[in-house]
Amino acid sequence: MNFLLPLTGSFAMPAAENPTVAMIEAAFRHHGLDWRYLNCEVEPQNLEDAVRGARAMGWRGFNCSIPHKVAVINYLDGLGKSAEIIGAVNTIVLRDNKLIGENTDGRGFVSALQKVVDPADKKVVLFGAGGAARAVAVEIALAGAAQITIVNRSQDRGEKLSQLLNEKTPTPANFVLWREPFFIPKDTNIVIHATSIGLFPDVDAMPNIDVSSLTAKMIVADGIHNPPLTRFLMAAQAHGCVTVDGLSMLVQQGVIGIKYWTGVDVNPKIMSEALIKLKL
Ligand code: NDP
Repeated sequence: MNFLLPLTGSFAMPAAENPTVAMIEAAFRHHGLDWRYLNCEVEPQNLEDAVRGARAMGWRGFNCSIPHKVAVINYLDGLGKSAEIIGAVNTIVLRDNKLIGENTDGRGFVSALQKVVDPADKKVVLFGAGGAARAVAVEIALAGAAQITIVNRSQDRGEKLSQLLNEKTPTPANFVLWREPFFIPKDTNIVIHATSIGLFPDVDAMPNIDVSSLTAKMIVADGIHNPPLTRFLMAAQAHGCVTVDGLSMLVQQGVIGIKYWTGVDVNPKIMSEALIKLKL
């Protein structure tokens, strides 16, 4: 029996209602994998001890969520390439007896996007500059995007993300301060919304985007997984755009995590169904 340990922050819920536990354990059951994925709440002051415990007990890996995504790096033996650029990890994998930090937030997104379009050589407009946007921007850049425009409400975070992309990835980036309804330039191929606007319970909230500037040639993605069909994605669909939702991003993250830990490619459909059962 192998164990995986997701370390969550100040956030605790019964395992049956935790979306990550539900979708990962559903995949283990479906594929007959003799593994368990458990939810543990770890206070920030106990993080070092928790990681030491995971090593001592031979855990094969774990996930960690806010507020541990940056702090946990101090207790690991190394980082994957994109995690190093992003400066945050959400997935830890035991490789050759070393705990290596990876970031699947952005990779899950790119994997979901690739089912619809290859981001290589595409012009991208990305709303947001928080943790999710940072991970998505780095992975899209490493996947070969031609240009990334970061649009964010706060100047400081937006400029830092654009600078990071210019310094650490081959993709040129620019920053636009988000004050007015944003008009998407006509030559944009992919529009990505990666802020928290529209997340349950604020499901009626709409990002300040001039949706009349969307054209049917644009692929539109939203990182919000609850609800999967956000008001923004509904507006994009009404303009004829193909859309990618946050639920598929969450599922793909899980698929990548399980591959890292077990080496097995699992069926994403089983994981989506487990999430849908939770009404996510
Ligand atoms: P952060 O708190 O790090 O960043 C929030 C971002 O949203 C910032 O860019 C912030 O702008 C922006 N923002 C928030 N409110 C507003 C507003 N009213 N107007 C304009 N901008 C706003 O959060 P994360 O990046 O970690 O998460 C963002 C979303 O992504 C969450 O909803 C989360 O659920 C989702 N997510 C989805 C994942 C998936 O697998 N589907 C994985 C990870 C995250 P500013 O810088 O100005 O504050």
